[in-house]
Amino acid sequence: EEAGVQRDRVVPAEEWLQKWAAGKTGFHKERGHPLLQKYLDVLVNGRSGLRIFFPLCGKAVEMKWLADLGHRVVGAEISERALREFFSEQGLPYREEAVPGVPGARLLQSTCGNISLYCCSIYDLSSAIIGKFDGVWDRGALVAVNPCDRQRYASLMISLMEKNSSYLLVTVLYDPNKHKGPPFYVPEGEMRSLFG
Ligand code: SAH
Repeated sequence: EEAGVQRDRVVPAEEWLQKWAAGKTGFHKERGHPLLQKYLDVLVNGRSGLRIFFPLCGKAVEMKWLADLGHRVVGAEISERALREFFSEQGLPYREEAVPGVPGARLLQSTCGNISLYCCSIYDLSSAIIGKFDGVWDRGALVAVNPCDRQRYASLMISLMEKNSSYLLVTVLYDPNKHKGPPFYVPEGEMRSLFG
């Protein structure tokens, strides 16, 4: 198995928080991702006022893009710092509250209500808490999940999708023997079996 070297790697939450604290966030794209621009029509598919989910959202500027287009955005991220930086860098006022049923989780929501970012592990969320989505932008998310958690992650994502939702997934192609990840190399066959 080509990706066998990465299979047992686990990145503790603490390691992500340290990356944010140290500003080691080379994955962040200040100007947004060109692939979202390119495939926006596929995601939106002629619909308006969609609910769009950003798993492992970081401070992705694309959340602001989609909100500005009239969609409602929900994100999940363990780093509170990332979420605060998102709102301050985008110049958006926000309020903060606890999340009923999820001890320790916080909801940071833009004052106008169209961007709701949950500060907790994605595995603490479910459709009962955050509802279902018409679209998902998965960039730096599946590839950042620990390889041993992929099945759990994919099942959760499937449970969050409305019937006609579209899921844009960005992965990376490289030799997993040369880099320990994240981002992890997810072979195409595995993506197909995860999402069916
Ligand atoms: N999607 C973003 C960030 C990618 S980096 C972008 O495109 O820029 C992956 C992010 O996932 C990091 O910000 C990390 O803090 C967060 N993360 C890692 N494990 C998580 C988990 N279990 N739940 C929620 N967020 C997590």
